[in-house]
Amino acid sequence: MRVYNFSAGPSALPLPVLEKAAAEMTDACGTGQSVMEMSHRSGDFKPIIEKTEALLRELMGIPSGYKVLFLQGGASLQFSMIPLNLAAGEPGTGKKRAVYVETGVWAKKAAEEAAKFADAVTLASSKDRAYAYIPEAPAPDPGDAYYHITLNNTIVGTKWTSLPETGAVPLAADISSCILSEPLDVSKFGVLYAGAQKNLGPAGTTVVIIREDLLGRAPSWTPALLRYDIHAKEGSMYNTPPCYGIYILGLVLEWLKARGGVNAMAEENRKKAALFYDYLESSRNFRSPVEKPCRSLMNIPFVPAETGPERRSALEARFVREAAAAGLVNLAGHRLVGGMRASIYNAMPIDGVKALIQFMETFEKTIG
Ligand SMILES: *Cc1c(COP(=O)(O)O)cnc(C)c1O
Repeated sequence: MRVYNFSAGPSALPLPVLEKAAAEMTDACGTGQSVMEMSHRSGDFKPIIEKTEALLRELMGIPSGYKVLFLQGGASLQFSMIPLNLAAGEPGTGKKRAVYVETGVWAKKAAEEAAKFADAVTLASSKDRAYAYIPEAPAPDPGDAYYHITLNNTIVGTKWTSLPETGAVPLAADISSCILSEPLDVSKFGVLYAGAQKNLGPAGTTVVIIREDLLGRAPSWTPALLRYDIHAKEGSMYNTPPCYGIYILGLVLEWLKARGGVNAMAEENRKKAALFYDYLESSRNFRSPVEKPCRSLMNIPFVPAETGPERRSALEARFVREAAAAGLVNLAGHRLVGGMRASIYNAMPIDGVKALIQFMETFEKTIG
């Protein structure tokens, strides 16, 4: 029996995608091979990567002046590649300044990694209130290499609802946990990146979307595999790309298109999130720790209203255990913040959210 999987990542994939992959496992598209067995330079694989890129461009409305790259190393490698390619200097010359807004653990890690290659400056932070909101930040300097934000904060459950004004400074965004969840104006960004394992497919593929004028800025000492311009020139085939992950990503994009594309997905996602937040507002025993204007559509942390720390952690443990027994799995919050969290990416049907609410209403009756 399939469970409702609320994991933050790797996370649930649409069942039709898994079924299609299973049907094609040993013989994909009449080639007599699994996609896992194909040469990445073969005529069998080429249409797969081309179709995947074309679908992503269509669904996200990616303008022609942008490259789409399929890389490895996760979102975390982009924490290094962005400063390395856009702000690092030749030996003896200065590093450029790059600015960050610290809205959570991933945003903080990105800035810490950037400090190795750039003059990384944190413009604003929401750490003072446990990252429960998106802070106001001052404008960047016109000479800054880029301005980095984490559009959706997976662990704490916040999202940017409007983009910062950065003038001519390229905006760089980690969209790992919100890509394709709502429409996004790609032309507002210099670089976008997302690890696939949240809303796109299996772990192992990272999507990077980069404006072409930002290519070729890496210093000469940059390792080849970490240079955007080399990956762009080679069509993500400088070395072997994550072939099978790209194939599954293509199937997810086909599924998403058949569901009506990003606008239809966004409508469904807003409905799902509203249902759950409304329930939390009305609940006497659970609440959202996130300030209302910046609540995420994708990752919804919740905590018991109970304040005694021992009773609280016992209650959380019982909740996660009993939910799993009821077929609602991976509801524990991130290990750094505790509590509970329901990640409701594109692949989570509204019936999964309804089942969770129903379980919680029943669970509440057992709380004395
Ligand atoms: C999961 C996540 C990451 C880390 O991704 P990896 O692919 O494991 O490196 C970074 N940023 C955000 C917003 C995430 O949700």
